[in-house]
Amino acid sequence: MKSLIVVKFGGSLTKNPKAQKKFLKELSKISQKQRVILVHGGGPEINLLLEKFFIKNKFVNGLRFTNEKVLSVAEMVLSGKVNKSLVAGLLKNNVKAVGISAKDANSVICKQVKSLGFVGEPVKVNKKLIEVLLKENFLPVVASIACDSNANSLNVNADILASAIASAFKAQKLIFLTDVCGILNKDKKTIKEIRAKNINSLIKDKTIINGMIPKVQACLNSLKKGVREVWIVDGAKGITAMQGTVIKK
Ligand code: ADP
Ligand code: MG
Repeated sequence: MKSLIVVKFGGSLTKNPKAQKKFLKELSKISQKQRVILVHGGGPEINLLLEKFFIKNKFVNGLRFTNEKVLSVAEMVLSGKVNKSLVAGLLKNNVKAVGISAKDANSVICKQVKSLGFVGEPVKVNKKLIEVLLKENFLPVVASIACDSNANSLNVNADILASAIASAFKAQKLIFLTDVCGILNKDKKTIKEIRAKNINSLIKDKTIINGMIPKVQACLNSLKKGVREVWIVDGAKGITAMQGTVIKK
């Protein structure tokens, strides 16, 4: 069977249409040889709409506090705008992309992290729907909205979602595309390679802050659960260049 890679498309890249176009073209080439699951967020696009609606918004350790209004805007942006634009971009490259969110067919069940409002943390991945799509050569594009076990909607950090999916599918590779060239050190230079055990000290000494916190935690989690190779790369340089940080067990 073809090897499987999970790619997380950073919401921050939705601001860069040129990079998005290039990425989708490269991904279409990769998908001819490997099975691909694309997971995405949409942070800046959510912020834009929240501002338009005058809805306030705050982050706790890189995770968005999500009240009911923020949740409905997040779902609208993620499952509507961002998901469908990625699907269209892949279709333009002749890839049979299918847009879903993690709630479809209960693909990823979450439990609510009450301190963050309507935010979910993955507890169970039901692989069936995504498996069926992959088997028929469709490329699943997964928006980071899920449900709890009572079908209540929750907002999920897309890095954490990508990690849960990559772990459940035992993906060979998990690649996070973001708007920086991997993990930067205090001098803003890329750390090209880092061992999992050395990551926590970078959070403690505040080298890693904000959105990079859930990202590296997602990396650690997936390495622990059997994903072989985890990368954080600069999305503007594309996915073939793979410029950034590789995190090793
Ligand atoms: P996305 O999830 O869309 O890729 P985020 O904004 O959530 O984007 O996370 C990436 C951001 O993390 C970077 O743009 C940067 O501002 C921030 N960041 C914090 N600490 C670091 C670090 N040590 N190295 C690189 N980026 C960092
Ligand atoms: Mg993020």
